[in-house]
Amino acid sequence: MRILVVEDEIELASYVKRGLEREGFAVDVAADGQAGLHMATATPYDAVVLDIMLPKLNGYRVCAELRAQSNWVPILMLTAKEGEYDVAEALDTGADDYLTKPFSFVVLVARLRALMRRGGASRPAILAVGGLTLDPAKRRFSVDGNPVALTPTEMSIMELFMRHPGDVISKIEILESCWDWAYEGDPNIVEVYVRYLRKKIDIPFDRKYIETVRGAGYRLVDADG
Ligand code: CA
Repeated sequence: MRILVVEDEIELASYVKRGLEREGFAVDVAADGQAGLHMATATPYDAVVLDIMLPKLNGYRVCAELRAQSNWVPILMLTAKEGEYDVAEALDTGADDYLTKPFSFVVLVARLRALMRRGGASRPAILAVGGLTLDPAKRRFSVDGNPVALTPTEMSIMELFMRHPGDVISKIEILESCWDWAYEGDPNIVEVYVRYLRKKIDIPFDRKYIETVRGAGYRLVDADG
């Protein structure tokens, strides 16, 4: 799951980025509204945390512009103070939820997870495909009820697969959704991680959940069905 944080207060932005990364998200930061709009347009984020008071383009305008482009990424707005005006305007421009500064990080994560779940009717709180279950909020993953420890990146890839069972997902899509912009290495890193995952979920349980689709990418299949 990849999140964009649009916030010009550098300390707050890096605090939020570090915290979200510890929760297993890939996080990009934009320090002004224009950069935020550009990044949100160019990359399929799972959610955007959007400050209102921003240089170049304010949060309301970023939000309105994204919605005008039919971009329905879940948006959590950060409002500076408790004020009905701020909140009403945030929701009017198409934000999904808001949080008043200063906020608790725990609340921020809970709200983001709720927004991402609401992102579509087909997004249950606990994901299950065949014998695989993944609880995104608790960062727990199991095969046939046996807990399997995954690194944050492995967890992120499994979550992507499990939200789209049966769909072919390309290496680039995996890279875009599970690594942030700072990653400039070899896209074949995805193959390396798929190999790690197979060692954890396929080989020990004698299944083949992750299929390679030659020239196209990977597909998660219900290996029990
Ligand atoms: Ca600000």
